[in-house]
Amino acid sequence: MAALTRFVFITGGVVSSLGKGLGSAALGALLQARGYKVRLRKLDPYLNVDPGTMSPTQHGEVFVTDDGAETDLDLGHYERFTGVHTRQTDNVTTGRIYSDVLAKERRGDYLGATIQVIPHVTDAIKKFVFNDLNDEDFVLCEIGGTVGDIESLPFLEAIRQIGNEIGKQRACFIHVTLLPYIAAAGELKTKPTQHSVKELQSVGIQPDILLCRTEHPLPAEQRAKIGLFCNVRPDAVILAEDVRNIYEVPLAYHEQGLDGQVCAHFGLKSKIPDLSCWRDIAHNFAHPEGEVTIAIVGKYTSLQDSYKSLGEALSHGGIANKVKVNIKWLDSEVFEQEDSQTYLHHLENVSGILVPGGFGKRGSEGKVEAIRFAREQNVPYLGICFGMQMAVLETARGLAGIPQASSTEFGPCDEPVVGLMTEWSAGNQVQTRSGADDLGGTMRLGVYPCQIAKGSLASKLYGADFVEERHRHRYEVNIAYQDKLENAGLKMSGLSPDGLLPEIVERPDHPWFVAVQFHPELKSKPFEPHPLFVGFISAAREKSRLV
Ligand code: GLN
Repeated sequence: MAALTRFVFITGGVVSSLGKGLGSAALGALLQARGYKVRLRKLDPYLNVDPGTMSPTQHGEVFVTDDGAETDLDLGHYERFTGVHTRQTDNVTTGRIYSDVLAKERRGDYLGATIQVIPHVTDAIKKFVFNDLNDEDFVLCEIGGTVGDIESLPFLEAIRQIGNEIGKQRACFIHVTLLPYIAAAGELKTKPTQHSVKELQSVGIQPDILLCRTEHPLPAEQRAKIGLFCNVRPDAVILAEDVRNIYEVPLAYHEQGLDGQVCAHFGLKSKIPDLSCWRDIAHNFAHPEGEVTIAIVGKYTSLQDSYKSLGEALSHGGIANKVKVNIKWLDSEVFEQEDSQTYLHHLENVSGILVPGGFGKRGSEGKVEAIRFAREQNVPYLGICFGMQMAVLETARGLAGIPQASSTEFGPCDEPVVGLMTEWSAGNQVQTRSGADDLGGTMRLGVYPCQIAKGSLASKLYGADFVEERHRHRYEVNIAYQDKLENAGLKMSGLSPDGLLPEIVERPDHPWFVAVQFHPELKSKPFEPHPLFVGFISAAREKSRLV
């Protein structure tokens, strides 16, 4: 840790879903625009060791880092706003802290001591906060959940201790709250914020800055009142009014003085940040020249946070092509319930079809149907992970004469065109798995290389013949079927360097049909849109011109 690394702790109060993660990411971007090196981290109070085994419709997307950690989706915001790649050491949960503490206890590392929340659990949390730093100027630590939750107490205690140990000149506490608008009174109410700050003060933390989410502007005297009742300088009461799109968040928070207050807290006189890049992105997003509609055919469509990065990556592709991207969320099971004539209307006017990552048999046949439609009707198709596996099954069954083609994920089968991966190489090491392994943390996770065939659409899109992308899957297209699939028009244009694992497939006879075993959406950023999404939206734009 650099001697002058400063820590900003971000807590939330009143209600959840206030956009604490986005706010932290935006603050990171603003400090970066002032020339500082930043790092963002998330401390999650729930008991799962990581979110890898949680249902996407409960917890939202699992964001995978380069080094293979399955993390909270807020880490996606951090990367998209700062471009700093997150790591295993940037997300921790109560479950992980306790399993580490208990493993140490079993080893006898505590030399006979009685293990307690304070100091053993809080020490483990503090160690996480200070661990694996690299001369950062700022480390922003977001505490998940809401102040007052039983689970967050050890985390609040740990950051309180850190505040005491390193002092105000190196620690700053930001509390994010809500100012609800009561229509009958025509007023924004400050009381919930006051209560939330009291709750925080009761565990010994005095916030230095309040970030108040609101749908309406706040009169100056109300701001002064919040400051007075919450023991915060009125200037440090920052209004976070709702904005039209997330790319305006850094601009709006800067306008309201958030980054200025953080710098003032630490006595830093840095230059005014250059936000022209964010201005351009927000402007381009708000002023598209046209629009396209993309159908996402998935299973977790009831909660759009399950596909957070995907939605963002499509927006980035839209910004790059100057079009607004409308998403039509379709539950794949509709294609199983209706026959091929009646389901057509769901897909009739879309300019692109995307089948995202997914797990399990339920809904898989509907995905195969949607892919068949895309192939036969020349609709641009992007398949991601499960969306590639299902595209391969569609070709195998429909064109390669393998009607029994299936994935062993759905049970034993005669033609395992997609099968369980039991062995693969990760750098110089061989990774092995069996069907009897635990579910948590045992997939093929993180960044793996892919060799791209010259002259393919993929190589044109990437402008490269070697890429590294992030993975999260247990099954793999079976290379033994390569010839049959290629003879049926599905080319394997990307392979692992040892030639054993298909990474990209495409159809040269189709206007735009690309499917990938990895998750390109995890690497897309508004200022660096992912080439596959740029290409997909460009093809969709072309298609929408033709209809
Ligand atoms: N269920 C598939 C597998 O485990 C695909 C996973 C995914 O789409 N992320 O291989």
